[in-house]
Amino acid sequence: MTRRVGLIGKPLKRRHSQVMHDAAFEAAGIDARYELLELEPGAVAPAVAAARVSDEWLGLGVTAPYKRVVAELVDVVEADAAAIGAVNNVLRAQDGRLIGINTDAPGFRVGVELAMGRPLADVEVVVTGAGGAAHAVVFACLSAGVRRVTIGNRTLLSAEALAQRFADVGAGSISAVALDDPAFATALRSADLAVNATTVGMLEPGATIDVELLPAGATVFDLVYVPPETPLLQAARARGLRATNGSEMLIAQAAIAFERWTGVGGMADVMRAAVTPLLADATSRA
Ligand code: NAP
Repeated sequence: MTRRVGLIGKPLKRRHSQVMHDAAFEAAGIDARYELLELEPGAVAPAVAAARVSDEWLGLGVTAPYKRVVAELVDVVEADAAAIGAVNNVLRAQDGRLIGINTDAPGFRVGVELAMGRPLADVEVVVTGAGGAAHAVVFACLSAGVRRVTIGNRTLLSAEALAQRFADVGAGSISAVALDDPAFATALRSADLAVNATTVGMLEPGATIDVELLPAGATVFDLVYVPPETPLLQAARARGLRATNGSEMLIAQAAIAFERWTGVGGMADVMRAAVTPLLADATSRA
């Protein structure tokens, strides 16, 4: 029997996940395929229910706009995913129970530690954005033991809600400011790590972080990976800062999910090799 993993989302503009997982299935000698399931809202619950009742399914991937909805449809949500409020993958246990997990947070940690060249602990972090990705980033930072997280967002209310949600995670302090608040610039001046978790640089040109304010040793991490080189990364590199896009996070979160579905680890290199041509193509919407 060919096993299946289906990615639930709408629209599904990219094939990056499919390319990575299919390459890993092949390399691991597992008879399975990764399918794109672009679903209308009303079709999500039936798709999740179908995955529960058939041994064909190893699990599901979940992307926008269904990461919160699917958390309500599975049988168990792991503690980290529940804290973040989003499920980006689902495991199917042998008894058919569906378990919602979040691999964005550990994927971010792997990607950012590669970028910084050191563990994500005891540092000061500035994160822009307060959407789904920012939730995973802020949770990962606080869980990893950072000293301070400042969340800067266009809409202050969303940043405040995010700070409130994670006030008790880890020992680090957390605060929320609007992007145009002078306190945001102050936070950048002492940041070891600045993370863009907004859609700016992907959906529209520009940048949410003024790299001129960052200290010389700071690292800039942009979650955006299409295009591979955003204005933020270009500016950071021009200033001589370490600067990395979101591709290693993408690969790491996929490798973690793959290991959870199959028990086979160590697939990041296979996945990287498979997805590199797509990542290199700035216009790739395949
Ligand atoms: P989302 O939930 O839609 O959140 C979007 C965020 O961007 C919000 O905080 C929004 O601010 C902000 N924003 C949008 N337009 C803005 C503008 N013109 N100026 C300032 N802020 C603006 O999106 P998401 O799911 O969190 O994704 C965010 C980014 O992360 C996307 O580019 C996505 O591709 C990337 N991502 C990458 C990975 C990876 O593995 N590398 C994983 C997940 C996500 P408001 O609250 O004010 O609207």
